[in-house]
Amino acid sequence: MWYFCLRSVVREYGWRFIARVGAKRPWSTLRAFREAAMLDAAEGSVLVGAARVASYAGSERPVVGAGFCLKPLDPPCPSGRANHDCLFLEQPVGCEPVEVPLACRACTIHLLGTRSLGAGAAFYVMTSARDILDDIFVPAMRRGAFASGLFVICRYSFRPFAFGLLASGMSGRLLPLERGDCRDYGTWLLADRGIKDEQTTIGAGGMAEVAGSLPRAAFPDAIRVERRGNVFYPVTGGRPSETG
Ligand code: SF4
Repeated sequence: MWYFCLRSVVREYGWRFIARVGAKRPWSTLRAFREAAMLDAAEGSVLVGAARVASYAGSERPVVGAGFCLKPLDPPCPSGRANHDCLFLEQPVGCEPVEVPLACRACTIHLLGTRSLGAGAAFYVMTSARDILDDIFVPAMRRGAFASGLFVICRYSFRPFAFGLLASGMSGRLLPLERGDCRDYGTWLLADRGIKDEQTTIGAGGMAEVAGSLPRAAFPDAIRVERRGNVFYPVTGGRPSETG
């Protein structure tokens, strides 16, 4: 945790985090650091925050985030890899299955996205720490855009991620990638710059945990999606969900 943060503080993400979160809420940020440093991140998924939410049923303003490294490599994602895009989620409702690209049919982002949006949560394809700060942490802190989140990330970054989550006033669950995850600062930094040649997975157990953490799909067959900035939101009853 110390090593990660000290190396990050000289990078753009680090000083932006200090300026946009730490300087605004110094005591909360110190408390967040202490709590994140004490997190037991050795096994399984980890609950973060005072609320210690075990489930998102009834939770307000939830968001589900998944790393871009879950996008498929072979065949490759038609949206490209190190970005927030998912053409499948943005396609109009009612597309015939045959119109769905082969890569999308067994894509984990597809499964997580449709499950999350169908359950009423926002969905976010995570790329760099700087973008997560701009798209999730700062909007959560400034305007309460998100109260809780479920994030599929590498276990190596659990504590630093929990630090940002807590400092921005959120709580949530961190779920580890099963394979292909970054296990040291060097590989994490490359992935943060969009260089990640491994295909990561979360496995059947992880997917079941996601499903168990989210409320039962509210409108799985009639889902419409609106993209605002880099985040996807479900549209209910002709209006965007109150989330965000
Ligand atoms: S469903 Fe997966 S493969 Fe298809 S566009 Fe979205 S992220 Fe790419």
